[in-house]
Amino acid sequence: MSERRVRVRFAPSPTGPLHIGGVRTALYNYLFARQHGGDLIFRIEDTDSSRFVPGAEDYIIEAFQWLGIKFDEGVSFGGQHGPYRQSERRDIYKKYVQQLLDAGKAYIAFDTPEELDAKRKEVENFQYDAQTRMQMRNSLSLPKDEVDRLVATGEQYVVRFKIEPGRDVHVDDLIRGDVSINSSVLDDKVLFKSADQLPTYHLANIVDDHLMEVTHVIRGEEWLPSAPLHVLLYEAFGWQDTMPRFAHLPLLLKPVGNGKLSKRDGDKLGFPVFPLEWKDPQTGAVSSGYREQGYLPEAVVNFLALLGWNPGEGHDELMTLDEMVNLFDLSKCSKSGARFDYVKGMWFNHQYLLQHPATEWTPAFDKILRENGIESTPEREAQVVEMMKMKVIEYVDGENNKKKRNISFVSDLWPLCRFFFVAPETYDKEDKFVRKNWKEGTTAQEMDQLVGVLSALDDSEFTVEQMKPLVDAWAEATGARPWNAWRVCLVGTGQGPDMYELAAFLGREETIKRMEHAIAALG
Ligand code: GLU
Repeated sequence: MSERRVRVRFAPSPTGPLHIGGVRTALYNYLFARQHGGDLIFRIEDTDSSRFVPGAEDYIIEAFQWLGIKFDEGVSFGGQHGPYRQSERRDIYKKYVQQLLDAGKAYIAFDTPEELDAKRKEVENFQYDAQTRMQMRNSLSLPKDEVDRLVATGEQYVVRFKIEPGRDVHVDDLIRGDVSINSSVLDDKVLFKSADQLPTYHLANIVDDHLMEVTHVIRGEEWLPSAPLHVLLYEAFGWQDTMPRFAHLPLLLKPVGNGKLSKRDGDKLGFPVFPLEWKDPQTGAVSSGYREQGYLPEAVVNFLALLGWNPGEGHDELMTLDEMVNLFDLSKCSKSGARFDYVKGMWFNHQYLLQHPATEWTPAFDKILRENGIESTPEREAQVVEMMKMKVIEYVDGENNKKKRNISFVSDLWPLCRFFFVAPETYDKEDKFVRKNWKEGTTAQEMDQLVGVLSALDDSEFTVEQMKPLVDAWAEATGARPWNAWRVCLVGTGQGPDMYELAAFLGREETIKRMEHAIAALG
């Protein structure tokens, strides 16, 4: 067999917002396609009309646009193998269903949902398979003229795959190696429903992968149980020579505890599980998204890339998309689940935020300031960002422990930066820092003196360079240690940047005003 051009696909079902695990699947497909100079296809698997959610398809497209994951062909991208929306491919599937029926590899079954339910009640662990199919109402158990009559009268039916029992089915997985299972445990899966004239996921997926010349199926572990059936379908069609290679990616696990990552974990611990905010069209409920939370797309991509894969020793965790394309290796993906360490995600965002100059933080910062009734200028906002971006903030983790982390979002700045824009009005005498650094009487005198020292400078001289020697000299001469009390005056508590930088930012008038206010209030 000659080398085929690498073609992979991401094939979501539009049943709601794209889960972050789906984003990782798409990313790995993207990296693989780029690395091999191949194609990445975007296919919409919408054959289950009962689960269709309006808006989901557009949402998915927008999410990848935001993330910078580009497709080569597919829904909204065009291409030679379309249509790429399965609901538009009905006629194609019908032909292939007929092919299996004609070859005796599939059969028609008339059992109603009620009949199937009754059977399940009667027989424990009932499975529609080689052992039971002759007890059911289908084209294998009924005479041919009866079958023809039922079909002609419009009786609803499904087409089932006729699985031959007692065979070892092998799935050759690029991550997991040989995965084998005995065909006797598989049931005769429904491939097609006459009710909506649509195939099920299994049939449409295999037919499309074949027709779209897909060479590798890279998808989440949750699809591994379907893979043996898919292998059998390829065989039934006689397509085993061009069967794609499989790679089933490790599950994403909860940040704490056991089991797979769920939306509930995100809600509980305060992180999104969707790339973009999503508003449920039925309930109106809003789920948070990485974009709206203030994540940078590069950070999300880098974080996700390392959930289940790593480039090995000697490589930095921070990688551009191009670097990832070079280093990516399916065989280095782990078989075991990848813990969704959302704190690590925040760390990535911190790293990527720092790669952007402060001037790029200011639009988002300005928005938050305005929401809090503050008007400032981009220049002053950028100065604040510069002074505060390396600060550490406290947060409460999923197990209710107080922890510290870097500034990871522009919105982290606001609670730390209020005093730049709003003077402290009252001072909390119970505040540890205030109590420790403000001694009634003596401190006020010292601050009075400092006001005197600073007053010697005019507006234009109120810079770090000019203030510092002057204040240092005075402190040296008098033995004063004014810095913490000065901080109480300007900030109200023990936060903030270097005092000279802060004073220079506030300017002469505001600095002195805040000091006099504190002297009067604290005494
Ligand atoms: N439509 C399936 C999904 O929603 C595709 C699974 C596959 O990649 O085969 O993920």
